[in-house]
Amino acid sequence: MPRRKNECSILKGIGAAPGIAIGPAFLLNSSKVRILRRSIDDSDIPGEQERFEKAVSDAEQWLNRLLDEMPEELKGQSGIFQAHLLMLRDRMIYNRTLDIIADEGINAEWALDTSLEYARRLFEQVKDTYIRERISDLEYVVERILQFLSGSPVVDFGELDEPVVIVAHDLSPADTIQMKRDKVLAFVTEVGSRTSHTAILARSLGIAAVVGVEGLTSGIFSGEMVIVDGLAGQVIISPDDDRLARLGEKQDSYLRYRLEAIHFSGLPAETRDGYRLKVKANMELTEEVPSIVANGAEGIGLFRTEFLYLARKNIPTEEQLFATYREVVESMSPYPTTIRTLDIGGDKLVSAVSLDEEVNPALGLRAIRLCLEEKELFKTQLRAILRASVFGSVKILFPMISGRMEIVKVKRFLEEVMEAMTREGIPFDEDVKLGIMIEVPTAVMVADFLAEEVDFFSIGTNDLIQYGLAIDRVNEYVAHLYEPLHPGVLRMIKQAVDAAHQSGIAAAMCGEMAGEPMYVPVLVGMGLDELSMNSLSIPRIKRLIRQVDQEQCSNLVKELLESSTGSRIREILLDFLKSKFPDEFGPAIGLYPDFWDMDA
Ligand code: PEP
Ligand code: MG
Repeated sequence: MPRRKNECSILKGIGAAPGIAIGPAFLLNSSKVRILRRSIDDSDIPGEQERFEKAVSDAEQWLNRLLDEMPEELKGQSGIFQAHLLMLRDRMIYNRTLDIIADEGINAEWALDTSLEYARRLFEQVKDTYIRERISDLEYVVERILQFLSGSPVVDFGELDEPVVIVAHDLSPADTIQMKRDKVLAFVTEVGSRTSHTAILARSLGIAAVVGVEGLTSGIFSGEMVIVDGLAGQVIISPDDDRLARLGEKQDSYLRYRLEAIHFSGLPAETRDGYRLKVKANMELTEEVPSIVANGAEGIGLFRTEFLYLARKNIPTEEQLFATYREVVESMSPYPTTIRTLDIGGDKLVSAVSLDEEVNPALGLRAIRLCLEEKELFKTQLRAILRASVFGSVKILFPMISGRMEIVKVKRFLEEVMEAMTREGIPFDEDVKLGIMIEVPTAVMVADFLAEEVDFFSIGTNDLIQYGLAIDRVNEYVAHLYEPLHPGVLRMIKQAVDAAHQSGIAAAMCGEMAGEPMYVPVLVGMGLDELSMNSLSIPRIKRLIRQVDQEQCSNLVKELLESSTGSRIREILLDFLKSKFPDEFGPAIGLYPDFWDMDA
């Protein structure tokens, strides 16, 4: 039976970003507008044309307002909006749609989509790639008109009157990046998993989030009060007084715990028997620097630079990138900043870099593969990173390396860039340290060879598990199969760490696994030298490291590596955690969310 409005109901999902938020639901129609064909009577044609014209002028007004309100520093980007304004009235779209409505007697949405299809075919025949790529602008413009036609216009998060909980079928990383903490209390989506980039961004923004909530959008009304419990992966719609009170208590104890952990976050991450790890931060947005420092990070272990390219229409220039990198590097100094080169593609699409639609983007032209093809894009970024390297300590990290030739090619290209800069008299750190992400299973298999090429490894478990277990990290249907404790995954991690150490280089981990409290004994036991994670997790991970013995952890790992199933490994690990940390993992902190189900 469908749910009635204001009836209390609880939905389960995956806790994607910690924290608890309470506020009114704001339903967002972010999935592409679905277009249906509808025949109309001759007498309705003028009305339908008028409806179309109104949607075009609404889109025009919206774009004009964006232009007016554009901050001074972004004014250089206004050209693209001007172009979109012109496209709204382009004959190919505007006149043709009006004609199709009249000639075929069909609805405006269908007519508009037909015009776009026609334009797409025309564009495809053009040889000039620049012109051919403009089809994506046309698609953007048509999407805006369709949104106004459907009555669900684009949301400007800054314009919301009051703080809300965003409820959507899906949110792209580009949608998420625009959320402002004072207006968006939390978000909940039907799709997604803990390691999707949308979830990772929620953690960077400090916004509580639950993803993968089945039946969400059909079971909630806009304006209804919702509690988002990002710790337990739970959404409570129209909570009763009792639940409100209990969640309030949980919120308090979570905040108390965080404050206490932060208080000690400056202490080193050293085990009781003297094994010292470095704990660093993953950074997606430059605004995170103060919180990275406050949470006790010993540097940035992973700067996901692609987010600077997201949600903008133009590719940033070398100057813009340099200015940003320099600021981060200087603020983190004397700690190092590990700048990862562009990892776009997969679930991180950048509108300024037009990529052909791929059937299987996770296995497609992504990360280093794209950079090795788009050399200008790569060169611009490398120059900016190198220029920033004289303002502090910089390391460069290359993503998605799958074999030796790939890193050899990258290093050759880097050398060419360095030589050109030397000729131009531009200073840079000639001894800049180079590392690779270990996130493609073949990289593990040839880790001994790869270790001869670089100064450090950083294990990216998000992708390593995705590719190792063949589980799409953004697909909620297989999210439950995503198992960091799979014996195959543990063996891969161990093999990569051992290969690094045999060659005398450092082994870091920057996948989400590094920031999950329950894996601390495993990672310490594996002998990792460095863990990098979202900054919110740092105080707690450091605190746990300080409570274990490396020797005990490495014995634990030996036992785990001899176990043949993930479930057995999980059992052994849980026993270890319960015996070593009887007080550390109370329900309020959400380590074992399933142990603390409100209705259990
Ligand atoms: C990873 O794959 O584990 C990683 C850290 O990189 P990203 O999540 O950006 O793919
Ligand atoms: Mg990755």
